[in-house]
Amino acid sequence: MTERSGMSVPGEGASIRLGDQVFEWAADGRAVRPALVTQVGRSFQVQHPEVPVLLDHGRHLVVDLVAGGVPAPRRPEGADEHADWRIEHLPAGAVVVVDRPSVEAGPADDDTAGLLAGLSPQSFDESMRFLTGLPTRHSWSTGFGEAADWSSDRLAGSGFAVTRHSITVGTGSSANVVGELPGTGTGDRAVVLVTAHLDSVNTPGGPSAPAPGADDNGSGSAGALELGRVLAGRSWRHDLRVILFGGEEQGLHGSRQYVAALAPHERARIRAVLNLDMVGSLNTAAPTVLLEGAPLSAALIDDLARAAATWTGLAVETSLNPFASDHVPFLDGGIPAVLTIEGADSANKNIHSDRDVLATVTTDLAMQILRMDAAALAGWLQPVEAGQKSRAEGSSVPLRTA
Ligand SMILES: [Zn+2]
Repeated sequence: MTERSGMSVPGEGASIRLGDQVFEWAADGRAVRPALVTQVGRSFQVQHPEVPVLLDHGRHLVVDLVAGGVPAPRRPEGADEHADWRIEHLPAGAVVVVDRPSVEAGPADDDTAGLLAGLSPQSFDESMRFLTGLPTRHSWSTGFGEAADWSSDRLAGSGFAVTRHSITVGTGSSANVVGELPGTGTGDRAVVLVTAHLDSVNTPGGPSAPAPGADDNGSGSAGALELGRVLAGRSWRHDLRVILFGGEEQGLHGSRQYVAALAPHERARIRAVLNLDMVGSLNTAAPTVLLEGAPLSAALIDDLARAAATWTGLAVETSLNPFASDHVPFLDGGIPAVLTIEGADSANKNIHSDRDVLATVTTDLAMQILRMDAAALAGWLQPVEAGQKSRAEGSSVPLRTA
């Protein structure tokens, strides 16, 4: 996942914007040779303290390579083909990596208000307590199996038909939990996916060390289960599928194998993938969410940003520079996907260790992100009122047909 070849050296001056921070550099003189780093946690800065950071926006950095070549990533223990950071030379011209869109709130309709009122912090916290109460949910552990069993029961209790798919993770195996809720629309139906990774990891401690994984990614898993529970209480035109992946922390194995196994007509039926990874750590004074996708998911990002403006007090950042979570294999496969992640995620220094505990999670931030997610999902799924055909399109996302 690291781009170390075929990079162009900037030949003229340029600027880069990360949120409200701008870095500019001159055309000549080679005083600096800026590059963009995208990192999980502070992984780049921990591995390469010698590389000067010119602009720090947490998940994204501008660094100066004037002192040497491009450093090579070191793989975490037990990982294959997986790096925690990526480095790219910056092209000439203006580059926006993290944007702060100004989006106007839409009309706040009663149907959506009623749906969002069903979201329960108690229900979310109950999932969080169970998941973080396991010693570890490492992909190879019995704890992962217990988490998969418990999540399957929650989904089944909400009305989903649940299956489990075995996956390979390095020298071991793990599983994806898949919950299916068919839509009630007549004619061709699309499918909307809500995804999160269920596994946790303690990188320094190894596979058997304590890994409560509260923010990463108990919060996203509990959030996906809560979205599933609330959405299952209503009738939708399109199918809803909730997937909890294994093997994410070892290199996105669950989502990569899932996407690779999709038949062409199933792939074409996927209208939207909403991935939740770290939605519970309040790292900024103002509650903030980052919506991360690619140009093919720009319409999903627009819908989420509008939902945030209409239904939450969240500040929104957006990025079309996808990295290091389960939305990436979908985007690589040409499927519109977006990550919702807490703002300034790299300020959470507890992830991938025994310090990622329940007490570090702010339920209210997670509930704000779930309100945004649920409102956007309702638009993509399209409500069906009793005795009626589905309502008019509630989304800017075009329906893909096989
Ligand atoms: Zn994660």
